[in-house]
Amino acid sequence: MVKSAVLGFPRIGPNRELKKATEGYWKGNVTKDELLAVGKQLREQNWKLQQSIGVDYIPSNDFSFYDQVLDLELLFNVIPDRYSKYDLDPLDTLFAMGRGLQRKDVDVTALEMVKWFDSNYHYVRPTFSHGMDYKLNGSKPIDEFLEAKKLGIQTRPVLLGPVSFLTLGKADKDSLDLDPISLLDKFLPLYEEVITKLIDAGATDIQLDEPVLVLDLDQQAKDAIVKAYNYLGKALSPKINIFLTTYFGTVVPNLDVLQNLPVKGYHFDFVRSPEQLDSILKSIDFNEKILSVGIVDGRNIWKNDLAKSTAFVQSIIDKYNLSSKNIVVATSSSLLHTPVDLDNEHKLDRNIVDWFSFATQKVLEVVAIALKLNGDTSVDDIFKKNLKSITARKNSVLTNDEAVQKRVAAIDDKLATRKSPFVERVTVQKEIFNLPLFPTTTIGSFPQTKDIRINRNKFVKGTITPEEYETFIKSEIEKVIRFQEEIGLDVLVHGEPERNDMVQYFGEQLQGYAFTENGWVQSYGSRYVRPPIIVGDLSRPKPMSVKESVYAQSITTKPVKGMLTGPITCLRWSFPRDDIDQKTQALQLSLALRDEVQDLEAAGIKIIQVDEPALREGLPLRAGKERSDYMDWAAEAFRVATAGVQDKTQIHSHFCYSDLDPNHIKALDADVVSIEFSKKDDPNYVAEFKNYPNHIGLGLFDIHSPRVASKDEFITKVDTILETYPAAKFWVNPDCGLKTRDWYETKLSLTNMVDAAKHFREEY
Ligand code: GLN
Ligand code: ZN
Repeated sequence: MVKSAVLGFPRIGPNRELKKATEGYWKGNVTKDELLAVGKQLREQNWKLQQSIGVDYIPSNDFSFYDQVLDLELLFNVIPDRYSKYDLDPLDTLFAMGRGLQRKDVDVTALEMVKWFDSNYHYVRPTFSHGMDYKLNGSKPIDEFLEAKKLGIQTRPVLLGPVSFLTLGKADKDSLDLDPISLLDKFLPLYEEVITKLIDAGATDIQLDEPVLVLDLDQQAKDAIVKAYNYLGKALSPKINIFLTTYFGTVVPNLDVLQNLPVKGYHFDFVRSPEQLDSILKSIDFNEKILSVGIVDGRNIWKNDLAKSTAFVQSIIDKYNLSSKNIVVATSSSLLHTPVDLDNEHKLDRNIVDWFSFATQKVLEVVAIALKLNGDTSVDDIFKKNLKSITARKNSVLTNDEAVQKRVAAIDDKLATRKSPFVERVTVQKEIFNLPLFPTTTIGSFPQTKDIRINRNKFVKGTITPEEYETFIKSEIEKVIRFQEEIGLDVLVHGEPERNDMVQYFGEQLQGYAFTENGWVQSYGSRYVRPPIIVGDLSRPKPMSVKESVYAQSITTKPVKGMLTGPITCLRWSFPRDDIDQKTQALQLSLALRDEVQDLEAAGIKIIQVDEPALREGLPLRAGKERSDYMDWAAEAFRVATAGVQDKTQIHSHFCYSDLDPNHIKALDADVVSIEFSKKDDPNYVAEFKNYPNHIGLGLFDIHSPRVASKDEFITKVDTILETYPAAKFWVNPDCGLKTRDWYETKLSLTNMVDAAKHFREEY
């Protein structure tokens, strides 16, 4: 019998229960017990849902109060001294590591947060030091396994595997010569210990995720895979079935190390990389091992073509003459990256809603495919309905706009190139803006206060008029402008109070997008996003941001930056179409944004920032043609959006929360870029930017943390950077937008930051 598996289920709850409880706990309005109870409730709900649908392998330990990688750091006591020294409750240590903690007795910054592969999920980077005492420090996976067991549900616990855990980590700044992978021998016994405890608790299967297997691995990492799984396999099987799990790409270049491992089964992502199939099946004998076929997309929201997927799995069985008991039908990755339940959507166009499938529906798809393969006719109706939906989408006229397609076809080099090179533009711009050395600015958003959210809700619900809402937004803009003037910032922003989200806001104004009411997806910690869905060809019916920018500029003499989200970020933070390629979607977006940039310029906005925080995230995971092609079309899309302006108009861009390589941004030809930097403690990283030709603001404080840095702290930081980076190109700014912060810390941090810039102006 073919079995079904889910690799992970969203933990945020259908109504964002986890966010409400966690944030309540941070504010002191929810007790620890209440928070724990919400977690328990959510886990129970998810397990019961999957059980009722009939999933064979239901995951546990996919729940987390912040991040599953951070959980593992706690579990293995990978806790830098600066956190452990306070003797906090484990839950508070978790949050302190994830988001920093500052109160009268504690003051500690957060650990670095990085994008999870090419997704918009962020994990807290394991940070290792020489002196650390690695040991089991908790029992979360076992507790959650037992919790499910008590409900009568046998789960398959998930752990990030040792090689990924170490490879995705870094050395702490006191131990820069430490290569985390060298710690493998210390961690293998710890994995053995946890898994043994799981076995004692009754676990029969375990999912060990090794997503690094889809990256280009050096020999050391490859050897580590062989060593780790030989060790674990020998120590633990046949007491437990180890499923070695990969996702988000192809394992083909690392297949040599996957052969002959003493594990029970392997999971591969055939949604992202169907082409790896034959190579895999030729190297691993699935008469001996279980093959878990990732066929239901864990990263996108399109309805699965059930007939096609079933045929795909059947063809594997037939072609390689496999026994169906060795086959598992699965989600391609964890469903963490998809919204919880399509049944929570009531406003989507009924024709369009039929094209989608969220996590709950995906669980059903996985089970339906498995049942069909087993010859179960009870799913015939589901298959019939599915065929109807798939056909309806294929034949829909909603997706096609010939005018857009023609415009994209006409894009050429000229359209994507600014009138003069940077060296000439910078002279013109210097004269116009006459900015001091160490010019100060922010990334765009200011605190999205409760008041802002309440008013936006009222506006959406129609309980206040558009005029009332506009008056409110204007007053918010004015507040932000006055504050920036008061503390002496040089290049101002309007604060983005009108934006619910940097992508959704534009998506809502573009033709070709659909939006959800409840399609929340975790981005990091308690921050969730609601990605809009690209359903058809994209275009801009009318200006999207001009009114707010023009108003902000009208009430101050300082330059105010126009603020747009770039084409790649719009693409990456949406659910893209799967029926045309991503390049085409990016270029459609770039043309819409080009019109907006030109409207802003025509309306008197002299500086325009086009944010591309997702640029790096979109980079294909492996080196090669796909990656270099991506760099080309991503840069082209940015330039198409921005190159239409005159030399005197200053184009800014912004990048954050990924390991940015300056070479990736050169081709964008922005005049000024701001990057997230405050947690990149590595001096080599600054050096990499030294030769970047245009101007850069290296982010000076962490916007995810409520912690306030003092003026002296800023001065020390800038001093260190100045050892490498030239003052002449140095902009001063935070890591990213301030929307998740409160005004209290925003005011203090920015004031200290500006004062530090003033200090350096006197020095230089
Ligand atoms: N301009 C946006 C803001 O300030 C940029 C956000 C981002 O990079 N994620 O919020
Ligand atoms: Zn940012």
